[in-house]
Amino acid sequence: MFRCPRRGASGRTRTSTKMNNTNTVRRKYYQCNNLACGACFTTMEAFEKLTSKQNSGEAPCRMTLFPATRFRPPTTGRCSLI
Ligand SMILES: [Zn+2]
Repeated sequence: MFRCPRRGASGRTRTSTKMNNTNTVRRKYYQCNNLACGACFTTMEAFEKLTSKQNSGEAPCRMTLFPATRFRPPTTGRCSLI
């Protein structure tokens, strides 16, 4: 969420586009939630750094609960349990 630069009301993300090949920078398109304003504006969002120790090369906890062999290949874009 980002605040409208005009009056400070909350903004709603309408869409976003990636700005580089590693998908670490995105341009987001917002619309102000204040109906009297309704301004449309963009922001740039970039990955800065990891803040958790969990992603230090080990699999996240959730992945250890369901081994990869328990999933069948995706048919509709999402994995499902066998
Ligand atoms: Zn506004």
